[in-house]
Amino acid sequence: MKKSELYPFNYLVLTLVLMVSCIAPKNRKPEIARAKQEAMAHIRFLASDELKGRKPGTPEMKIAARYLVEQFRSFGLQSFSTTNEYFQAVPVELLTSTSKKTVSCNNVVGYIEGSDSILKKEYMVLMAHYDHLGVIPDTVNAQSDSIYNGARDNGMGITALLCAAKKFSKNKPLRSVIFLATTGEEEGMQGSDFFIKKCPVPVNSIFFVLNNDGGGYNDTTLIRIGGINEINFSANPWKNKIGSGINCLPYPEELQYLFKEGDAIIFSEMGIPSITISPGFDKIDEAILKYIHKPTDEAGDDFNYSYLAKFCLAYYEMSCSIANSGKLPSWKKGSLYYSKGIELYGK
Ligand SMILES: [Zn+2]
Repeated sequence: MKKSELYPFNYLVLTLVLMVSCIAPKNRKPEIARAKQEAMAHIRFLASDELKGRKPGTPEMKIAARYLVEQFRSFGLQSFSTTNEYFQAVPVELLTSTSKKTVSCNNVVGYIEGSDSILKKEYMVLMAHYDHLGVIPDTVNAQSDSIYNGARDNGMGITALLCAAKKFSKNKPLRSVIFLATTGEEEGMQGSDFFIKKCPVPVNSIFFVLNNDGGGYNDTTLIRIGGINEINFSANPWKNKIGSGINCLPYPEELQYLFKEGDAIIFSEMGIPSITISPGFDKIDEAILKYIHKPTDEAGDDFNYSYLAKFCLAYYEMSCSIANSGKLPSWKKGSLYYSKGIELYGK
């Protein structure tokens, strides 16, 4: 399926839709206060000690998946599954230095059909991984915390995904949007790889992927975008401050390699323009290292929930702008994935 070029009438419709659906009201305090409460509830549950770090193959990861399924159901998302359960069964291979086993896991997948009868055949994927590292006993100090809660990695991303799904369900986009919570990212991006191999829609009908993943924040005036330098956008969806005053910048030059270490790269390698949204950071300093892949990565009292709310709103606003945009994002000539894109979309 080829990407659409819109005709003038649709541009008018698009402009009107954008005015009513993506642009936020001037006084955003009540909206942000509501978003903060919701976001706090999601992340505090998913990163709780009771969920024991959401390791693939554990009962606690199944509880996390069930939570996501029931949230999707409450938003009225559609399911690709005949059982209306939003699960996509994924075998995840767990490797240690001494063993190898395969465990049954699930991606959680729902979608909203676009409101435009033609554009609804084009899909944008909003994605975040919900797995983390589980429980790893400290062999030196047996008394220390052994639960890797994964609040920032990737409770923040999953929370943003849920908040966006709820908002899109109330404000239908022109194009269709798939919401994908992946498993097995920490085990080598196995959930996203499985999704694309058993894709419920034609792979070339997916025009863009917004992954959400990160290791923490040390600049709460920002969100960072990985992979953005390789893609052309007709209108920059992050040109103006969004999410109530947050600036959006590409990953710092020396940290752009991080984009290749997450789920989005699986889609890029298929030729689908993809980016990763991350919390604000400028360098990997103590404020990041304190939490990343550590038992300290918790949603406790020191977590910045106001920033989380703005981060979630920014993710939605950006997604909304792309789902309704006049022209679709495409690979820049000279990008590593340009020829893959031509191969996939036929132009
Ligand atoms: Zn992650």
